[in-house]
Amino acid sequence: MKLVRFESVGKPASGILAGEEIAELEGDFYGTLKTAGRSHGVSRVKLLAPCTPGKIIAVGLNYRDHAAEMRLAVPSEPVVFLKPPTSVIGPGGTIIYPAMSEQVDYEAELGVVIKDRIAGISPDRAMDHILGYTCANDITARDLQRKDGQWTRAKSFNTFCPVGPWIETELDAKDLLIESYLNGELRQSSRTSQLIFPVSYLVSFISKIMTLAPGDLIITGTPAGIGSMKPGDEIEVRIEGLGSLKNRVAEASGGI
Ligand code: MG
Repeated sequence: MKLVRFESVGKPASGILAGEEIAELEGDFYGTLKTAGRSHGVSRVKLLAPCTPGKIIAVGLNYRDHAAEMRLAVPSEPVVFLKPPTSVIGPGGTIIYPAMSEQVDYEAELGVVIKDRIAGISPDRAMDHILGYTCANDITARDLQRKDGQWTRAKSFNTFCPVGPWIETELDAKDLLIESYLNGELRQSSRTSQLIFPVSYLVSFISKIMTLAPGDLIITGTPAGIGSMKPGDEIEVRIEGLGSLKNRVAEASGGI
């Protein structure tokens, strides 16, 4: 099942996407799904980010090929950091190139959306608390990441977390093709089987640090092939079974 959020008469709504049609839901995805009796052609609505996370927990260095590319040792436990909810944009949303940075990179990542309020979950029970999976892009101001030594500024600008286009609830995410394309050219290509710490381990590990809530988003790290973007570029994340997430980069025009 593909779960989407979209704009309906100027307001956010939730729905189930089947083919080209969205069956609108009463309320959200967290709990019993109840259809509202209205449907919308997907091409006639604006899709929004499929979740509105209270927090985004990101994992650094979690693909074997990326660790090799960066000449870094494989970590013995996950390195996690947070991105703010204000960084989220949806499919087609614009990534604003911040005036503070001169190197803004894309990072294609598998996103995991949490279903329930959980804490201290064991890895063998973690999968029961996942609503589904989506494409994500962990946009990073690489120069500021190097300069600051810690990652908050580099990872947190408004628009630095594109997510979508939908949440797939029935997918085995253990071995999916994950790719990114910059202006249509393939830049990253790997498989989620390359993850150093798999999804169930990550959900368990993070739930032992902080309570996870419905809609929280875990982004699971990026494979080899990261690179920079400039205003005017289009970046696309494609994951097998999860569609394509495209966003364009634009120069900041005052403020952030
Ligand atoms: Mg990342």
